Amino acid sequence: MPPISLSDFERDALEALTAYATIPCLSPMFDDEWERSGHIDRAVELLADWALARTLADFDVSIHRLAGRTPVLCVTVESTGTSSGTAVLYGHLDKQPPLGAWSEGLGPFAPARRGDRLYARGVADDGYSTFSALLAIEAMEANNVAHSRCVVLIEASEESGSPDLEVYLDHLTEHLGDVELMICLDSGGLTYDRLWLTTSLRGIVNVVVTLNVLTQGLHSGSVSGVVPSSFRLLRQMLDRVEDSSTGEILVKELHAEIPAEHVAAANEVAAEFGDLLTESLPTVDGVPLMGSSAADRVLRSTWHPTLSVVGMGGIPEPEIAGNVLRPYTTAVLSFRLPPNVDAQTAKAAIFEALRTDAPPSAVVTISQAANGWMSPPLKPWLRDALNDASQKAFGRAPGFSGEGGSIPFLASLGMRYPDVQFVATGVLGPMSNAHGIDEMLDLPMAVGVTNAVITVLSAYAEKTDRT
Ligand SMILES: [Zn+2]
Repeated sequence: MPPISLSDFERDALEALTAYATIPCLSPMFDDEWERSGHIDRAVELLADWALARTLADFDVSIHRLAGRTPVLCVTVESTGTSSGTAVLYGHLDKQPPLGAWSEGLGPFAPARRGDRLYARGVADDGYSTFSALLAIEAMEANNVAHSRCVVLIEASEESGSPDLEVYLDHLTEHLGDVELMICLDSGGLTYDRLWLTTSLRGIVNVVVTLNVLTQGLHSGSVSGVVPSSFRLLRQMLDRVEDSSTGEILVKELHAEIPAEHVAAANEVAAEFGDLLTESLPTVDGVPLMGSSAADRVLRSTWHPTLSVVGMGGIPEPEIAGNVLRPYTTAVLSFRLPPNVDAQTAKAAIFEALRTDAPPSAVVTISQAANGWMSPPLKPWLRDALNDASQKAFGRAPGFSGEGGSIPFLASLGMRYPDVQFVATGVLGPMSNAHGIDEMLDLPMAVGVTNAVITVLSAYAEKTDRT
């Protein structure tokens, strides 16, 4: 069949996508009033109306609303082939907040097109997903290319960590049926010249540590030397979990062997792109970067356990710092975990390491623990299909890369559907600024991803041996 072109995408999707871009449907974490304001409702209804206008042989568009939860859009397209399994195409419609002032002429909810790029909050993360998923299926039917049963599942709590997704997956278990393929359209890669597949994500454990030494601050000239500094005691505790000279994590449960194919993929990325990661960093002059080579840095940022102190309390700003021995120091510790380390095991080990020999006045609380994710090994049919998809849509082989961040829904989908084949891809490339100012959707990339979805769905429908 002929590929979808940019003008097809413009004709069929751009008007509705641009209307969606004007809606400030922030994720619940960023809008306490989301239920009352109705922005998420407006967005889900807009997408549902657009979906209803598709030309498809046998399909159903439903908005599911469970009490107190964000809604979920579920578009079910019945199979036009012989396969019995379901392909789920995942996306989300909730948005990040604007973050700050956008550049001249751009605004988070005032969509603007410059060349082949559409600027507005949520267009790339992840508003395009509904359009790409359904345009792909619609084009297949128009060209008599068979597809399996497809469920396009668009949630509205992703940017809050997907707190509502599990509940809907329970609610929809029967409807989803025999899920064999999961296509997640909420990721991206290093360039716009090929299909990128996300192969892994790191997990996360966040810990709040407070060291109390006094019930009130006292003159440092009178009590220092007798009352221990809460900062020093905190330092001792941190020294049990991190080597302060190298940054290496000392808790052995947080370390894992990196699978050989992921090491090989990192080497390939480094060989082609060099030190892309570090070149794009706003590093201050003279800061020594960690890692021995480009490949090492790719692995360090996607597979190594790390500690970042992301917040501190009990310490005044420098301008108002008096000579006081402060009563307490609080630190928020953010640990990133290798994709294959269990977050609960890591959490227990971190807690144990921090508590061992800690002063009795230390308070340690875990505020978050979420698993990373590792793509299950690709079955031969899917590996071939992804190659084919990237070649057809972009004229070159696909790229495979790990990500250093966490996407909770992939971890929970991975646990729920351990035998399912995953395709985690998307349009988030350089300057797409998903969570920053000036978010942008590269329209040719959206078209390329749509065409890649067609190839993968077609290969899935054709596949006779599904073992
Ligand atoms: Zn997203």
